This record gives sequence, C-alpha cells and structure tokens, in this order.
Amino acid sequence: MRQHLIVGNGPAGVVAAETLRRADPQAEITLIGDEPEPPYSRMAIPYLLTGKIGEAGTYLRKDADHFARLRISLLEARVSALDSAQHTLTLADGRVLAWDQLLLATGSRPLRPPIPGIDLPQVLSCWTLADARAIADTVGAGARVLQMGAGFIGCIILESLAAHGRRLSVVEMGDRMVPRMLDAVAGGMIRRWCESKGVQVRTGRRVVSITAAGNALLVKLDDGESLEVDALINATGVKPNIDFLAGSGVAVDTGILVDDSMQTNIAGIYAAGDVAEAVEFATGRRVVNAIQPDAVEQARVAALNMAGQAATLPGTFVFNVLDTLGLISASFGQWHDAPGRQTAQLLDETAYRYLRLVFDGDRLVGSNSIGHTEHIGVLRGLIQGRVRLGEWQERLLANPTLLSEAYLARGLAAA
Ligand SMILES: Cc1cc2nc3c(=O)[nH]c(=O)nc-3n(C[C@H](O)[C@H](O)[C@H](O)COP(=O)(O)OP(=O)(O)OC[C@H]3O[C@@H](n4cnc5c(N)ncnc54)[C@H](O)[C@@H]3O)c2cc1C
Repeated sequence: MRQHLIVGNGPAGVVAAETLRRADPQAEITLIGDEPEPPYSRMAIPYLLTGKIGEAGTYLRKDADHFARLRISLLEARVSALDSAQHTLTLADGRVLAWDQLLLATGSRPLRPPIPGIDLPQVLSCWTLADARAIADTVGAGARVLQMGAGFIGCIILESLAAHGRRLSVVEMGDRMVPRMLDAVAGGMIRRWCESKGVQVRTGRRVVSITAAGNALLVKLDDGESLEVDALINATGVKPNIDFLAGSGVAVDTGILVDDSMQTNIAGIYAAGDVAEAVEFATGRRVVNAIQPDAVEQARVAALNMAGQAATLPGTFVFNVLDTLGLISASFGQWHDAPGRQTAQLLDETAYRYLRLVFDGDRLVGSNSIGHTEHIGVLRGLIQGRVRLGEWQERLLANPTLLSEAYLARGLAAA
C-alpha cells in the first residue's frame, strides 16, 4: 500500500490530501501540520478579527469527521529534516516517518526585519490564528496601531486592524501602497481612499527602531519622526518555510523549485502552494505566487501526479484581487511598462475608477485596475488565454471598456 505524506495542512495540503484520496483509494495518507488547530484558512483571519465569524468559521472543513471519513490521518508535529535518499522525514520530537510519495506544502511565514525592538511583546504579526488571538486580546478598542508594510497582505488586514475604533497608521518603505502589485496611479488612489477613511499613510519611509515607553511603543522613522503607539503590526512580507530542507538535496531558490507537474528535482517529492516556486506561464520566469487559488490548483496537480495520473500546470498565473477597506483593485500579469508595449488608460480619480491595459503586439499581457470589478473575469480570460485580439486591439486602445465585447468576439472563439 502506497504511503503518501503531506507536510503542511493549509489549503494546499488539504486539497492535495482530498485529491489523493479520490485518485488513490487504497493509499495511506498522512497530513502533517505544526499548528494546534484543525486545518484552517489564513484568508479568513480578517473576518475573524472584525467579528464576522468565530474561529470555527476559519476551518477549511467544517465537519469534524471530514478527514476521518476520508481516511486521512492528521498528525500534529513539526518536520525538522528530510532524508531524500532514505525516503524518511524526521519530526522535531525525534520520530521518523517513511514515505513513498511526499508533498511539501509548508507555506510561508512572516519576515522579521532586523530592527531594534522588533521582539517587543507589542510587536505582532497577522499570519496565524495564534496571531489573531494576540491581536484581539492585546490591541483594544481605540488603541493606536502602526502597521509596518502596505503590500498585498498588509492592505487586506487594514480593515480588521482599523475595526473597533482603533487609530491606524501605516508606514510603507516603497514609494506607494502595494508597490509590487500596482502602479503609481493605482497605489496613489488606494492611499487617498485609506486617508479618506481616517487611516494615516506614510510612504517612502522606514521604521528604524522600536522602544518600549511604559505600556506603549515609541517607533522611530528614518526621517527622524517618532510615533507613540500601543501596538505595531509587522506586515513586511513573508518567506517560504524551507529551512528543514537543508542538506536534503531538494533544490531551492526563494521557494522550492518545481516543474510543471509540481515535482521537485527529486523523483517522488513534490511541492505546492506558498512554498513552491513554479514557472510563470507567460514569461517562463520562476515565481512564488503566494495566493490561495494558486496554492489549491498546484496542490491538485501535485496530488494527481503522486497518485500516478499525469497532470500538468500550464504555468502559474500571477494575479491579485485586493479589497482595501472596501476599495477593490486588481493586478494581472505583466502590468509594468516595457519597450515595445502599448498601453491604454481610463482614469476617474473622483469616482475611484482606473483601468490600465498593457499590450504586447495584439495580445493583452497585463492590467491594473481600481473599481471595474465587472471586467475582472474577462481580463483574466484574455490575458491567461493569450488571446490574439486582431482588430480588437485598436478598439481597446481607443476604448478600454470594450473588454467584454473583445472577449466575446475573440476570446470565446479561441477557447
Ligand atoms: C491575513 C491573511 C489574508 C489573506 N488573504 C488572502 C486573500 O484574500 N486571497 C488570497 O489568495 N490569499 C490570501 N492570503 C494568502 C493565503 O492565505 C495563502 O496563499 C495560503 O494560505 C497558502 O496556502 P498553503 O497551504 O500553501 O500555506 P499555509 O496556509 O501557510 O499552510 C502551511 C502549513 O504548513 C505548516 N508548516 C510549515 N512548516 C512546517 C513544518 N516544518 N512541519 C509541519 N508543518 C509545517 C504551517 O504551520 C501551516 O499550517 C492571506 C493570508 C493572510 C495571512
């Protein structure tokens, strides 16, 4: 009987285990996670913090018997080492487990920038259920909160940090909000929106030190400004959990390098989710695309291969849809300017609506938008489908809102 081990019980691990059970009914499947709760979704944490759901609402599967019914063994343990040649894993408590096929789905963890004072108790992350409890327990109503970092996750958690009458400020070292996802126009619009909701935003600034001041914190910025706050939330980015692979022979860069079947350089060892570094579909570059839909799709492909059914991922697709205090923005593919690319833009600053399309030849290759939620599906279809737009390119350059018409005329035909 085949022994499938899955390390990491987030969305990638859970979907892989379920896919394996369907594809390999006889196999033994063990899902290992090092957090004490049942498998849960980090995406749900903002809803927990605003009180829209309780902790059980974050669980990925609501039925307590779900995993037992599928004969998936859950094991709470930390994996500390991998021996690829012996096909074994070592746990932090010294136990050794054997595997025939292995999936690494260990996700990522928050970076802790080397700033003096970063280890003070009022400096928190917003990544795990334990973090969410710490925020709820220690950052009271009306508290002064400074969030360090305004990237994708940073913007998602703004609403929950600002809830309960807290006074929220944000410091971002980039020249705008969400700099790796959105251009200057969109980043500036999100900033204005946040400020209109009472959040103070400082961009192009860094925290250089944090010191305790009684129960509060004194946070110093690189321009000499000092802010007194009750808590600092560190949202400066994440790092894939790959330390336990040292000496294993599994090839890593930022994350674990995988091919289009999600297999690593070692036969029988796969990786999926936030920890995997896969090939981007349009550019061929390797990326860690740390979003849940990708984690789940990668896990499904990995599991089918582990069960002996050939499956491939036709390149990972980089996109983000972001809700910042109710303002929806989206970023797809190659949205940066580059030589030879053409762009079309629609901007309505007062209505918080922005649409920018980037073309390479007669293909749409990237987009940034604010508002325009009605176009999100079509944008994805045109870009991911590499649809040749023909005469529709000129029409879109003249009027970017004709996206649906272009998709009906060219995208559906291509599909
Ligand atoms: C607050 C917040 C909001 C988010 N919102 C969105 C959103 O709106 N949209 C979106 O697409 N994405 C969102 N994300 C990102 C999304 O949660 C991740 O992309 C997703 O969780 C990745 O799933 P995963 O299974 O790869 O990793 P994870 O969910 O991180 O699961 C990995 C698991 O492996 C465990 N593990 C790690 N190392 C070991 C080890 N050595 N031994 C045993 N277990 C180990 C970890 O403890 C963890 O439980 C959000 C994230 C956060 C924190």
